[in-house]
Amino acid sequence: MKRFIFLGPPGAGKGTQADYLSDKLSIEHISTGELLRQEINEKTALGEKARSFVETGDLVPDEIVIEILKEHIRKIRGAGYILDGYPRNTAQAESLEEHEIIVDKAVLFDIDKETVVKRLSGRLYCPKCKKFYHSEYRPPQKDMACDNCGRALVRRKDDDPVSIENRIKVYFDQTHPLIEYYEKKGKLEHIDANRSVEAIHKDLFKRIGR
Ligand SMILES: [Zn+2]
Repeated sequence: MKRFIFLGPPGAGKGTQADYLSDKLSIEHISTGELLRQEINEKTALGEKARSFVETGDLVPDEIVIEILKEHIRKIRGAGYILDGYPRNTAQAESLEEHEIIVDKAVLFDIDKETVVKRLSGRLYCPKCKKFYHSEYRPPQKDMACDNCGRALVRRKDDDPVSIENRIKVYFDQTHPLIEYYEKKGKLEHIDANRSVEAIHKDLFKRIGR
């Protein structure tokens, strides 16, 4: 079975790569954030527990996240998975293990800070379609207008230079111990994420797809 976690800073493209690999290997891409939203929308028992935290802007406690993950993994029976967005620290990684949520390989998307800043600072967003563009890599057809609905594109507050610097710092501070944790277990795989989406696809498949 193939059970991975994907690690990488915002802008490293791990969501795109997780979608690609999960399609190719017929395994689940489990984005914890999306899974939580789904549980809340469907008003499941666990979703209801998570709701109060989300509504007050608090982090959903680990016990609840892990219960939701366990339940979901039980439902997808047999199929492998890619965990995206969780665990974020070693305490969470340890509790995954205690709950027998297995990680065979932790894939780290290595990327230079400058590349991240460049990728994130060019991001444009349509508030209506919730669609992302990029001034350089994926420009809209008309300057600063959404291809779908024509609405003026905006930069999210998260994507201004100060916020980006801050997000990257938080990521590195939090993730460093987690990287060491998986390295010690001999489970860490580095992927050079400074390259094009296609180059990363190929490499990823070659290294962990078989
Ligand atoms: Zn739009």
